[in-house]
Amino acid sequence: MYSRVLLKLSGEALAGEKGFGFDEGNVLIVADQVKRILNKGTQVSIVIGGGNFWRGRSSERMDRTKADQIGMMATIMNAIYASEVFRGVGIKTVVQTPFPVGTMTETFSKDSAVSHLKNGTVVFFAGGTGHPYFSTDTGAALRGIETDCDILLFAKNIDGVYDSDPSVNPEAKKYDEIQCSDIVKNGLRVIDITAASLCSDNNMPVLIFGLNEEDSIVNAIEGKKIGTIVRT
Ligand code: UDP
Repeated sequence: MYSRVLLKLSGEALAGEKGFGFDEGNVLIVADQVKRILNKGTQVSIVIGGGNFWRGRSSERMDRTKADQIGMMATIMNAIYASEVFRGVGIKTVVQTPFPVGTMTETFSKDSAVSHLKNGTVVFFAGGTGHPYFSTDTGAALRGIETDCDILLFAKNIDGVYDSDPSVNPEAKKYDEIQCSDIVKNGLRVIDITAASLCSDNNMPVLIFGLNEEDSIVNAIEGKKIGTIVRT
C-alpha cells in the first residue's frame, strides 16, 4: 500500500464515451475509488489532462504559445469540475495552479500542497507546468517528484504497455515491467519523453494501467499486480 501517490487522468477520461466535455458518471467512479483509498490513509493528488477540450499542438494555424495557454486553461476547468464532483461525495479538495487564477485556485507551493495532503485533502494540480511546449504528463511527473510521491499512477484507456498496438495486432504482447529508458529507446508512446526523462533522473516509478477496469485505482494503490510498471 503506497502512502502518497499522484494519479494522472487524461482529459478523455473525464469525457467518457462522448469524447468531449464532462461525463459525471465517469468522474464519480474515480471519486468513489479515491474516497476508499483516502479512508485507508493514502494521500492522493491528481493531474488531469485537457484533451477533452483542447490540445495546443493540434491547432496548426495559431501561435503555439497561445494555443498551449488555452490548453492549460482547459486543464484548470477540468480540475475545478472534478474537484466539485469529489466534494459532492464528501472528499476535501483543493485546486492548485502554477500561476495565479484570481480567487478560483490556490497558487502551487510544495509546503502548502504537502500540508493539504497530510490533512487528507485531495490536491488537484491544474495548469500543467505553467509553460507552453510541455504536457500534463510532464506536469504530473514534476509535481509528483516535488511532493515526494511514492509512485505516479497513469490511468489510461488501455490496460498497460504493449510491444505493438493491440487494436491493430491481436498478437501484441503486454509488458508487466519495462525500464524508463525503453520508452525513449523503443519510442513507446506511453508517457511523453520529457516526463519519462524526469522520472528516470529522479528515480520515480510509474504504473500505467487501465482506468476502465473495475477498482483499478484501488488495486493500483494497494500495489496489486496490474498494468505495466515503468522502473528507473
Ligand atoms: N499544456 C501546456 N503546458 C503544460 C501542460 C499542458 O501548454 O505544462 C497545454 C498543451 O496545449 C496541451 C494541453 O495543455 O496540449 C492539454 O494537456 P495534455 O497533457 O492533456 O495534452 P496532450 O498531451 O493530450 O496534448
